[in-house]
Amino acid sequence: MDRKQEQVRRYLEGAKREKTWTERKELARRSKQRRASRPGTGSGRRREWSDEDDAEDFERTERRRTRGDRQRPPEVETPPPKPTHFGQVVGVTSGRARVRTERGDVEAVLAPAIAKTQRSSLAVGDEVGLAARVDGSFVLVEVAERRSSLSRPDPSRPDVERVLAANVDVAVIVAALVQPALRQRLIDRYLIAVQRGGVRPIVCANKADLVDGPEERERLERLLDVYAAGGVPTIFTSAATGEGVDRLREELAGRTVVFVGQSGVGKSSLLNAVAPGLDLVVGHVREGDGKGRHTTTASTLHEVPLVGGQTRLVDTPGIRGFLLAGVDAGSLAEYFPEFEELRGGCRFADCRHVHEPDCAVRLAASSGALAPARYETYLRILASFDE
Ligand code: GDP
Ligand code: ZN
Repeated sequence: MDRKQEQVRRYLEGAKREKTWTERKELARRSKQRRASRPGTGSGRRREWSDEDDAEDFERTERRRTRGDRQRPPEVETPPPKPTHFGQVVGVTSGRARVRTERGDVEAVLAPAIAKTQRSSLAVGDEVGLAARVDGSFVLVEVAERRSSLSRPDPSRPDVERVLAANVDVAVIVAALVQPALRQRLIDRYLIAVQRGGVRPIVCANKADLVDGPEERERLERLLDVYAAGGVPTIFTSAATGEGVDRLREELAGRTVVFVGQSGVGKSSLLNAVAPGLDLVVGHVREGDGKGRHTTTASTLHEVPLVGGQTRLVDTPGIRGFLLAGVDAGSLAEYFPEFEELRGGCRFADCRHVHEPDCAVRLAASSGALAPARYETYLRILASFDE
């Protein structure tokens, strides 16, 4: 072996070798330093969120995504046999699924190829094909292409995308106007995640009964106008007085629906107001504690008869931390429709609307023609992509 070869061999060995504890600590320290030296990122930004665990989770989730995405394993092809029955998944547990078919609900075992990648390949709402075995049991052998999906990184394996619900039509993003205080940035993030998955968003501004006086109400309405202007139905609701509940019910009738939002904003209360008598506890299992593969991570699909049609409600614990899969710095602005109208005025066709000269978006934000909070959200998410 000549000297060059020997060098290469040693280098590879070094790269392969497990890093020692001290080495890892040093690497972490250096990368933290690098982050802190970038403007608009690092610990300052984190501190602002630290009063709110949900929001922090949310940001961390997004950041992990940018690293993990590249390593996602390739899709595994579904093997034969051919399906003989079809239905929709209403519950998933490890290696098994509950499927609603024309002749009622059946339990099916997942075909090995599907079981291997089940966190990303199978979710409540998926339309599936089953093959009947001689003994009368079923094997789930095929998953139809999804119309939409909501996903997030696996809590214990951030490089694995876990799909929480498939084929959802409408996501109700619930935010409280007060208690907890309105977090517009969080709404913006949910909006992106939801729209990215191909799901139609509705914003519910809940606890309207607790808003202090007509002036405050007006201020909040103006603040949320930006969503209605962008084509997102925005409803002021109160689970306590019933305000907005009829309108919400109309929006949901006949659709497959999911409710998302921070804890405490009133998701359960609103659901109960929309569909009294709904037993929300059914199938509600704890998840996301990351305590290993055998924890049940089921979500369920309830059918709720509402005026105007049967609504299917996907109840997914832990749906709050979405994965912004597929959104990158170049496409982020597409999720801010109000920017798109302005971008023709930017000097550069590929303007990212940050420091570029003659950027129409930045100008509009500083003059107030564009909601500054939305522009701020945009900048923050953009910065998180660099980490
Ligand atoms: P979730 O964690 O989002 O499901 O929130 P919950 O439905 O559990 O509600 C959290 C708390 O807010 C509970 O104490 C509810 O009674 C209260 N709450 C929910 N919606 C409203 C509302 O519209 N008005 C008022 N005054 N309280 C509400
Ligand atoms: Zn621009």
